[in-house]
Amino acid sequence: MHIDSERLNRGLAELARIGARPDGGVQRLAFTQEDLAGREYVAGRLRGIGLEPQVDAIGNLFAIRPGIERESGRTGVVLLGSHTDTVGNAGRYDGSLGVLSALEVLEVLQEGGIQTRHPVGLVSFVNEEGVRFMPDMMGSLYLRGDLDLDEVRSITGTDGVPIGGELDRLRMAGTDSLGDHPIRAFLEVHIEQGPELERQGAAVGAVTGVQGLNWMEVSLDGRANHAGTTPMQDRKDCGLLAAEIIREVRALTGEISGLRGTVGRVSLKPNLINVIPGRATLTVDLRHPHQPTLESSSREIRGRVVRIAREHGIEIQVRDTASAPAVDFDPEVVTAITDSMAALGLGDRRLVSGAGHDAQIMASAHPSGMIFVRSRDGVSHNPAEYSSPEDCAAGAAVLLGAALRLAELVD
Ligand SMILES: [Zn+2]
Repeated sequence: MHIDSERLNRGLAELARIGARPDGGVQRLAFTQEDLAGREYVAGRLRGIGLEPQVDAIGNLFAIRPGIERESGRTGVVLLGSHTDTVGNAGRYDGSLGVLSALEVLEVLQEGGIQTRHPVGLVSFVNEEGVRFMPDMMGSLYLRGDLDLDEVRSITGTDGVPIGGELDRLRMAGTDSLGDHPIRAFLEVHIEQGPELERQGAAVGAVTGVQGLNWMEVSLDGRANHAGTTPMQDRKDCGLLAAEIIREVRALTGEISGLRGTVGRVSLKPNLINVIPGRATLTVDLRHPHQPTLESSSREIRGRVVRIAREHGIEIQVRDTASAPAVDFDPEVVTAITDSMAALGLGDRRLVSGAGHDAQIMASAHPSGMIFVRSRDGVSHNPAEYSSPEDCAAGAAVLLGAALRLAELVD
């Protein structure tokens, strides 16, 4: 039983024509005509292999291929998928590869008349990217029960248009419910969007989790004064303190393995050439795959910046502005993926995702896992995004093997 690399890669090229831009990029923002056309492409392919596409009330597209056991405990579906919406001026692989790999698995099962004990399904979640409408990963959040229908329909986009209006205008909503089906596992193939696999010379890797994130905003209150007349020792310079905080965040990443720390925004007041900055606000973005380490790192950086501020005689406030906990993928699902990789001679690379994905939302409700496919130069959300046809096929092959392990092939 083999996936058809040519068919998978032809599908990627065909889907990339929907929302294609003259510069080679692709744009299918959620809840637009292009987004709908992308979904209809997948729905058409499903019909072509004899599976009925279903759509829920917010536009999540899914299809389920029955397993042989309808009454036993093996009725939970092994669900495969990702998303086909994109950011503005995107590449052709982010999300699409996961949905088309799921489609490829279903095609292989259909054409071979393969029987599994558990059903195997495909899902293409709506609005994973969250460009026009927040929150991102909307389709999986809705499935998990975090958002209700009225809430989703009333969310307005950056252009002031509500989702409900777009769903009605595009006739994009259906009446089916993926939530009615018990889910045994969720598997998502995705491009890595980072440089690790390329550095390690591996086509694919098993994702063991998604790193957590803590955002803080630091406000500093010193004293604005004349740049020419104020002696250096008399200053309460919030610009200098901001610089020291940036260095401290960098220093902490050198002390704690796996920690990523970024000060991405600094604003100084009054922000004039001849005035000592009397106020500053800056943001701190900390990420780590291990939740307790993320939390202790956040406490540590908070303690350090408060201490440095005191040394400068400057008032400081540190406020938490957002957080997303680190996610560990299900050991059984990760093992199904690594066993599949080993059986295909594709090595045993494991890595943690730096970006958010539907699989991390699914992971809190269902056993979940991800397969990463090597990205050239780690570039993503850009028309230059690229994964070779061979690497894409390797990702789909690992998915097929993992899905069969979880859905239990009937010999
Ligand atoms: Zn994606």
